[in-house]
Amino acid sequence: MKIDYIIAIQFVCIATKGITKIEFKNFIAQSLFKQITAMILSSDKTITHLDLDCFFVAVSRLMNPTLNGKPVLIGGSSDRGVVAACSYEARKYGIHSAMPMKLAKRLCPEALIVHGDYEMYAKKSDEVTQIISEKVPVYEKSSIDEFYLDLTGMDRFFGCYKWSTELWKTVKKETGLPSSFGISANKTVSKIATDFVKPDSNKKIDRGTEKEFLAPMSVSKIPMVGEKTYQVLRQMGVEKILTLQQMPVELMKDVLGENGKTIWQKANGIDDTPVIPYNERKSISSEETFDQDTIDIVKMKSILIRMTEQLLFQLRDENKLTSCITIKIRYSNFDTHTMQSRIPYTSCDHHLIPRVKELFDKLYERRMLIRLIGVRFSHLVGGGYQINLFEDSMEQIHLYQAMDKMKKRYGDTAVLRAAGSDFTPRMFNPFNGLTKGQPLQKKIQ
Ligand SMILES: [Mg+2]
Repeated sequence: MKIDYIIAIQFVCIATKGITKIEFKNFIAQSLFKQITAMILSSDKTITHLDLDCFFVAVSRLMNPTLNGKPVLIGGSSDRGVVAACSYEARKYGIHSAMPMKLAKRLCPEALIVHGDYEMYAKKSDEVTQIISEKVPVYEKSSIDEFYLDLTGMDRFFGCYKWSTELWKTVKKETGLPSSFGISANKTVSKIATDFVKPDSNKKIDRGTEKEFLAPMSVSKIPMVGEKTYQVLRQMGVEKILTLQQMPVELMKDVLGENGKTIWQKANGIDDTPVIPYNERKSISSEETFDQDTIDIVKMKSILIRMTEQLLFQLRDENKLTSCITIKIRYSNFDTHTMQSRIPYTSCDHHLIPRVKELFDKLYERRMLIRLIGVRFSHLVGGGYQINLFEDSMEQIHLYQAMDKMKKRYGDTAVLRAAGSDFTPRMFNPFNGLTKGQPLQKKIQ
């Protein structure tokens, strides 16, 4: 707005409405603020999705180059194990992650089976995170090997595509890990673009061409379309994204509820979900202060187990895995001690409970009265279908799915280990401060 113009309006306003100069300045300030806010809100975003190619296999190959060029399966080698990851050479045989190891071995008997090295995976993942964090102000680590970078506003200075290409090359040069990236106006289209060009490549989807790019693809390429939704869509005769784009959004809402609307929007290249800044300290925790200070180890362990189970249910519900446990105790004299331990990425009760008990034993050495205990899980990452990256078996996955289904339905204390249920179930959710959970209904050993 030109100054002359403002002065002219000012005179008109004062003359016609009798408003004061100060009121007028406030009015201008407010309208400018509104205009600037609107500009920011409507500003076009630029988001890069960077995904390391076959991350677990690539790291294993760095450690053992004889695996190069061969079909490699990562996971437990027992027949009851599940493939946590596999190389492109193995995928040619129809093998994919989450497939039972037994079936994978039948499909490709010459495949080499490698047991995961979680420490190395965590280390390499941290290295990539470090490179990104030094260069990008706003980024989200959505899983151990996947990142969204918000480059909005950088285009005028550097050129987002050029900048992303440089970062992509740096990651490979400094860590030895190949990756792929997609760049577009939003997270969904960038992720689909990355999957489209993999491995070791990149793709830019220009603003306004999103629908055209997505149209010929199968609806299964939309990130939130899982096996179940895919079958529903197939039964409706929908196979390609183009068909979804042409359907009325109401129809999708009728069939799949709110999810249907989101799928329709994604199919049309619309997604305004923000990049959620990654914070290494992100964690979930729970603690309990006793009514009376105690030295009863059995009671304290039982409470720790219950807290652990409830926190891990929350983690699995959010599709997350943890790689760090912290135990906290506060003695009756208010001395507070904590002990931390890095662990393989997991959200399994049966892996974490023994570690929690072990840490508590190491930490509680003074045999003095305790007034508070707590447990925290940190270094969280997205974990997809997994509950434990390298030791999943179908039975375990099914057991946890069944357990969590009951907890969702009847409350988070519906299913508890007997060891964790000796004391009154906690009815307090540390995440939102609300009371939740139902009375104990069933115990499992
Ligand atoms: Mg990946």
